Amino acid sequence: MKKTYLLAPGPTPVPPEALTAMSMPIIHHRSPDFIPILESAKNGLKWLFQTDNVVLILASTGTGGMVGAVNNFLSPGDKAVVVRGGKFGERWSEICEAFGVLPINIDVEWGYAVKPSQVEAELKKDPSIKAVMIQASETSTGVLHPTREIGEIVKKYPNCLFIVDAITAMGVIDMPVDKWGIDVCITGSQKALMLPPGLAFVSVSEKAWKANESAKCNRFYFNFKKERKNLEKNQTNFTTASSLVVGLNSALSMMKAEGLENIFKRHERLANATRAAVKAMGLKLFAKESPSLALTAIEVPEGIDGGKLTKIMRDKYGVTVAGGQAQLKGKIFRIAHLGYFNTFDIIIGISCAEMALKEMGANITLGKGVAAAEEILLKF
Ligand SMILES: *Cc1c(COP(=O)(O)O)cnc(C)c1O
Repeated sequence: MKKTYLLAPGPTPVPPEALTAMSMPIIHHRSPDFIPILESAKNGLKWLFQTDNVVLILASTGTGGMVGAVNNFLSPGDKAVVVRGGKFGERWSEICEAFGVLPINIDVEWGYAVKPSQVEAELKKDPSIKAVMIQASETSTGVLHPTREIGEIVKKYPNCLFIVDAITAMGVIDMPVDKWGIDVCITGSQKALMLPPGLAFVSVSEKAWKANESAKCNRFYFNFKKERKNLEKNQTNFTTASSLVVGLNSALSMMKAEGLENIFKRHERLANATRAAVKAMGLKLFAKESPSLALTAIEVPEGIDGGKLTKIMRDKYGVTVAGGQAQLKGKIFRIAHLGYFNTFDIIIGISCAEMALKEMGANITLGKGVAAAEEILLKF
């Protein structure tokens, strides 16, 4: 018998309450029964995003939300500053190029955060820049970029939008969208929202709606103006992923019961415990500064094959963590702690890493990481 544990930074585990809700018979998305369900989801998302703006609900993964964030607000030939500090930063550039938007890339060494002054320098150099795009939490490296500080800078440029991929930050760190001046903020269902993959959520500010009026990029499926009009009537432009929206209400009511402050504190506590465990095991964090609270990226010790490590963890012990992407393949492994995670998920992840590394011949003293995590989890 194999018991499995999902400790990856998306998809994340789904609580039984949401699973049960989603197993109910399908409601037709244009029927009156569905109206209050979508209305409740719409309002719950505003609460989560801490915004008075509309939060669109799209049937797609997070990347669909990123695509819509580019082609609904920009025109071919527009310039956008893109912070590239990992795999998802590169995705911003690739999406821009697909629509003829010209990315001005700020390449940040993987494992480091961008400096707000680097963004400011680009904006000062070229006043025609129409957008700044970042990841609030760069999931491929486990680093937080300084979203609040960059928001303060972009606020000073009335023709420039601040577009934030918050896919592993929303519901993890305190990110008040309106206060921080985020014009377009994206998250997805399968991360901190504790749902299966399939929904993207995008908040849009008044400044961004104004840009939408003259934006000329091609679009069809992700047409935000039409989505907003439909959402006013508690509808979506195309068929709603209705079961996922039912699950969303269930997840949001769990989050409301816990409260935003407590959610952020829980993520901080789990991240602190994981980092303390990593250090006690004699391993290194991949993030050299501002480590993410959503996941911990850990360097695979010298002489150990990272691909084999995550394979042993998954196939022998049933624990799914994430390996490294692109140039980090085989070099790091990533333990998630976002969404439906608590104390003993961390213990499972650390204990499994200790056992698998030990059997692969790494210099590990069993229990050291677990003990260090427990010390933090007990106190904090
Ligand atoms: C998961 C994730 C995405 C979206 O990936 P999808 O596979 O399209 O859901 C985008 N950005 C970041 C930072 C992510 O963690």
